[in-house]
Amino acid sequence: MDDQRDAVGLPNVLRKLAAMTAIRDTYLVEQSLLRTLGPLIGVLATSFYRIDEHGRVIRALYHSRSVEQKGDTRSILEHIEEVTNAKEIPDAVLNLFDSVRMLGKSCSKRLETDLLICYPVYGKGELLACFVFQREREVTPVEDAIIHGVLEVFTNYFDLLDTSQRDQLTGLLNRHSLEANLDRLWNLISARLHNPGANTLRANAPETYWLGVLDIDHFKEVNDRYGHIIGDEILIMITRLLQASLRQSDLLYRYGGEEFVAVIGVNDLASATQAFERARKKIEQFKFPQVGHVTISGGFCSADPAVLPKEVLNRADSSLYAAKAAGRNRICFYDDLVRDGILKEPETGSIELY
Ligand code: GH3
Ligand code: MG
Ligand code: MG
Repeated sequence: MDDQRDAVGLPNVLRKLAAMTAIRDTYLVEQSLLRTLGPLIGVLATSFYRIDEHGRVIRALYHSRSVEQKGDTRSILEHIEEVTNAKEIPDAVLNLFDSVRMLGKSCSKRLETDLLICYPVYGKGELLACFVFQREREVTPVEDAIIHGVLEVFTNYFDLLDTSQRDQLTGLLNRHSLEANLDRLWNLISARLHNPGANTLRANAPETYWLGVLDIDHFKEVNDRYGHIIGDEILIMITRLLQASLRQSDLLYRYGGEEFVAVIGVNDLASATQAFERARKKIEQFKFPQVGHVTISGGFCSADPAVLPKEVLNRADSSLYAAKAAGRNRICFYDDLVRDGILKEPETGSIELY
């Protein structure tokens, strides 16, 4: 039986792998992985959990298929859902992650009638993700080989894509990645704001999102006075300070040379202001070896899904320039600047500083 399945299955695997590696976006490749593996092993629901270096789940992706019968025609409906802020992963799944991490191989756990099965996905020797599905019987050796093979192609390809989306110096996601993913990010924000509580994982989802552009003050002087190598070190240290003052679920990009973009999810404007201020103060107070004190300026605005993402970036950027003009080492909020007449919003949608 298994041999037959192999003969039929292999070209199918290759076709699916070809489709998966034709995609140039890490998020879409993750989705494609689930679309590929579910049908190959004959299960209707699969999930994929991205895990950070501390073993915490950063993002969960759920894929399910259902068969719809309309008269004589049967069609397969696909549903895919991405959840960040995954705080309430079922205990059974978390326990499996622990087993997988300890044993360094796939593990299964018997639930009432089904088996919960988990495969680790490694990248650069680290546990990068877990592929999880549930069904009534154990995996056959042929299925096991197929899952391993597909996961291996996936990690190699994912690694390649991930490298091109990251900045070499700081390891942050780069400008290309931000621009390529802005629309997707906007859809996610929109879905979360309009559909709160649709999933138990969203119980702690923030109510508002904010986008900030942060820029190191007088960084050219640092380079001129201490040289590029020290300048690079400052960039790395500032990145770490920013990461330490943001939450795990926030997004941080290196947008330009000494410019960063942060997208944060919090409950209200006061918390957003607090978060950006916390980052600014943390840097202001840090004593950098040799150089001493360095400051940053920033501008932020609401990441309102009703406003085009490019426009939101423009608003945050104009607010940053207002912060520079007002003396640096400060964070400005777009709405305050418009209210105070410092920024105006021309009808064309582009913002100008008075
Ligand atoms: P402002 O307060 O107005 O932002 O002044 P600034 O000097 O920071 O801004 P400006 O745009 O004039 O100069 C930015 C400098 O950032 C120029 C460049 O030397 C430095 N820079 C950009 N990318 C890198 C990098 O990767 N490494 C180093 N060492 N320096 C960089
Ligand atoms: Mg600067
Ligand atoms: Mg700059």
